[in-house]
Order: sequence, then C-alpha cells, then structure tokens
Amino acid sequence: MENCIERVLISEEEIQKRLAELGKELAAEYQDKNPIFVGVLKGVVVFFADMIRHIPIDCQIDFMSISSYLGTQTTGVVNVKKDLDVDISGRHVVILEDVLDSGNTLKHTVALLKTRNPASVKIVTFLDKPARRVVDITADYVGFEIPDEFVVGYGLDYDERFRNLPYVGILKRSVYEK
Ligand code: 5GP
Ligand code: MG
Repeated sequence: MENCIERVLISEEEIQKRLAELGKELAAEYQDKNPIFVGVLKGVVVFFADMIRHIPIDCQIDFMSISSYLGTQTTGVVNVKKDLDVDISGRHVVILEDVLDSGNTLKHTVALLKTRNPASVKIVTFLDKPARRVVDITADYVGFEIPDEFVVGYGLDYDERFRNLPYVGILKRSVYEK
C-alpha cells in the first residue's frame, strides 16, 4: 500500500499539531453552545475522530452520507443516503468535511440543513483546494490549504483504498494508469 504513495504531503505530526490549534479555536467559539458536529461520510471519519478529541466541550455528534448532488446549483437538492438522527432546529451545527474541492457537495448539504432552521451552520474542512472551486462557498475553518493534487490517506480514498494511511499522501500516477 505504502509503495503506491509518491510522497507524503502532510505528516501525522503536522496533522495533530494543526488539529490542536483548530480545537482551541472551536472550543472557544462553541464553549457554551452545545454544538452538533456533523460528519459527512465516509472520508471524514479519521479527521472527525481526531478533531473532536481536541474540542473538550459539551457537544453531540451525528453523521450523514451523501452520494452525489442532483439538479442545478440553486436547487439545494442532494441525494441523502443516510440522514441525521438528531433534530437540528435551534441548534448550532458544525459540518466537518474531509476535503473541499469544487464545493458542490458542501453547498448542497449546507442548503439542505438550513431548511431545518438550525441556530447556525458553520463548516470545518480538513483540506481545502481553493483552486478547484466552482461554486461560491468558503469554509469557516480550514486545516490545510493544498494544491490541486489528488490526495489519499487519513480517511481519503482512491477507489475505497488508502483510507487507513495515517498521513495525507499523493498517489503515484501508475496507480491511476494501470
Ligand atoms: P466537491 O463537491 O467539493 O467537489 O467534492 C468533495 C469530495 O470529492 C470530497 O468529499 C471527496 O470525496 C472528493 N475529493 C475531492 N478531492 C479529493 C482528493 O484529492 N482526494 C480524494 N480522495 N477525494 C477527493
Ligand atoms: Mg467526501
């Protein structure tokens, strides 16, 4: 598995250091708000599990699974494979994402959740590829801004592989081309 990786982009140590910083900011903002951290499956699971352990405040967690977006950019239609279990009306929602790329998935997810009258909705993305954005959306908190490279590891997959690598790496071309 490791021999499919061209190079490590973000090491385990760098990830934990950054998550500790983000955790302090998030804890300060949400201290008395009892937020719901919402993870968008599956890529987020590793980041999610590490991130929430850096936020020592009262909170709840929940997950959604969204297969792909449907319709035009303004309809807010997403294909929800697994919806939230909790009612978010009046609650402070913090969406955690693995990577913000074109922005389509997240834009539709935010639009959907806002129809349920939450007190607030903010976005935390582990990785951000601003060069790839096609819709108008920005994250409130960003772990790492990365260049336009396809990365795997730390929850991110290529064809469902590599999610268990503890770091973020760039795949060798030969993996795509075979
Ligand atoms: P968006 O709707 O922002 O284009 O899509 C974001 C989704 O595309 C992510 O949640 C992830 O599933 C996938 N994605 C985008 N860039 C990468 C990448 O570099 N590596 C991997 N493994 N998935 C990516
Ligand atoms: Mg994803």
